[in-house]
Parts: sequence; structure tokens; C-alpha cells
Amino acid sequence: MFDKISSGIKEFLDRFGRKGLLTKKDIEDGLEFFKKILISSDVNIKVAKEILRRVKKEAEKEESLKSLVPQEQMTKILYEELIRILGKTYPLKISSIPPTEIILFGIQGSGKTTTSGKLALYLQRRGYRVLLVPLDLKRPGAIEQLKEISEKVESKFFFEENKNVYSLIKKAKNFSKKNGIDFIIYDTPGRLHIDKEMMQELKDIRDEIKPKETLLVASALLGQGSVDIAIEFKRKVGLTGIIATKVDGDSKGGSILSMKFVTGVPIKFIGTGEKMEDFSEFDPESFAGRIMGFGDIKGLIKKIERVKEEEREKITIK
Ligand code: GDP
Repeated sequence: MFDKISSGIKEFLDRFGRKGLLTKKDIEDGLEFFKKILISSDVNIKVAKEILRRVKKEAEKEESLKSLVPQEQMTKILYEELIRILGKTYPLKISSIPPTEIILFGIQGSGKTTTSGKLALYLQRRGYRVLLVPLDLKRPGAIEQLKEISEKVESKFFFEENKNVYSLIKKAKNFSKKNGIDFIIYDTPGRLHIDKEMMQELKDIRDEIKPKETLLVASALLGQGSVDIAIEFKRKVGLTGIIATKVDGDSKGGSILSMKFVTGVPIKFIGTGEKMEDFSEFDPESFAGRIMGFGDIKGLIKKIERVKEEEREKITIK
């Protein structure tokens, strides 16, 4: 995970290891090198520019230039700026009166159906009763796949042979009220590409359901492509969050770093493998640490704070 970007970042930070005090020239040269790493890691250009601008601003502050541990100082600055770009942890919204309805959108192959099962398992482990409902009536394979997944994670499943998606939605809502369901997760149609007709169909489905959450399932492997898809879905149907999938196979991290900043839509969960358990809440702090290739970044940051404290004390004693 993130090998490519992590090794580039390590190389960037290592440049400051052999230095004495930081100079503005060191910072400029370092950032020029870092820019190439970000671009080759599929980080959106707007995001790359923003990261570079913020790191430069922090690094050029007097206390950074005076630091006796410039490499650690740059590590801390970059870590904090990456977190700012990634956003916060955004919990799932829950309706005051159950069921909470969640729609999953995404293009075919993004991992949407698998993610329906993962999200169901995640919620069930927190004590909720979950119902899975397939809405892709044109693809019997997709309905069967969701049914199998619901059996695997032991969630409820609702489907009735129906030509009309709206009457299926009504029936699913009724079923959930009668059966004390807390969450309904709707798996929607997705094609290999985004087209006008599909977007209109999804918008109509969303208007009918009026969900608490409209989540886009997007593969991190698509890099800038996933950012473009998120922009399109946000504009045409509206989104409340993103679930980034296939993060386990992503060596660059570019789409994860870019999606929230470019679209304003928060990443709520990530998928990190094919198994139903390979799913977790998105945590920007641990994520920034992983992108930088550090296992225990929080420990490192504490150490840097301590060194800085000691430096301050030395200066005051003098
Ligand atoms: P859909 O067409 O969007 O419904 O996609 P599927 O749910 O059928 O998933 C497509 C493929 O991606 C399947 O082989 C899944 O096992 C795989 N997949 C889904 N999520 C992940 C993930 O987080 N990591 C990995 N490695 N594979 C995933």
C-alpha cells in the first residue's frame, strides 16, 4: 500500500537529514523535487499546489528555520498538512427514526456490491439490523451477487421480481418497518462508464428514497479518474460521502489525497481487500502516516515536540 509515494516522500525528507539549519534555498529545492513525486503519484494538480504552498509557508517560519532537527521538523509539517488536506473523520449519519437509508452509487467494477456487504457487516457488528436491497433490475447477476453476499454476512435481503424499481423501493421500506430494520443499504445500477441516462436514473432513484447518506464507491486504483467520477456524481446526483475501495492495491495514494479537497465530499470509509472484514472508517491521521511510510507517526510527532521543547528551554536558559 502506497509504496511508490512513501518511498518518494522518504527521499524528499532524507534531503533534510544531512543539513545543518534549513535555508530557504534548501526548502525550495526540496519542494521542487517533492512536486514531481506528487504529480507522478496521480495527485491532482490543484491539491499538489496546495500541499506545496502550505508546506513552504510552514517551513519558512522562523521557528522552522532555526530548528536543530530540520528533517524531523519537515516530517511534522508535512504530516500536519496532509491531514489538513485529507479532512476529518466523518461518521455515518443516522436517522432519528429508523431505518437509516443509504444509497451506494458507483460505476461497474468499483466494488459497489462487495462494499454493500462490507458496510452491512460493519453495522451489524455495532448491533444494528441491516437490510440489503438490489436496484439493478436489468442485471440478474448483480441481484444474485448481492443475495450471496447477504448470506455471507448474515444480513437481511429483500427482492421481489418487479419491473418497476420504485415499487420495489416502497416494498423494501415496508418490509424494513415490519422487521425492525435499522439500516437499508441500496445497491444501485452502475455501468462501465458514466452516461446521461444512468445519471438521470440514479437521480430519480435518490429522489424516491430520500436517503440519509448517498455514498459514492470509487476505486482508488483509478487515480485522477476516480476524482473525475466523484465530480460528475456530485454535480449530477449529489453525494454525502465517498467510500474508497481497493486501497490495498494502491501504490500512489493520489486519488485518496485528492478526492476530498477537489470535490468537498468527505471520504467516510475505505476498502482494503476482497474479504468482508477488509473495511474501516477513514482516519486521516493514520492515513497520512501510512502515506508517509511511518508505522508509528504519532510517536514520532511526540518525540519531535519533545526535542522542540528542549530547544526552547536551552534558548531560555541562555
Ligand atoms: P461492482 O461491479 O461495483 O458491484 O463491483 P464488485 O463488488 O463486483 O467488485 C469488483 C471486484 O473488486 C471484485 O473482484 C471484488 O472482490 C473486488 N474488490 C472490491 N473491493 C475491493 C477492495 O477493497 N480491495 C480489493 N483488492 N478488491 C476489491
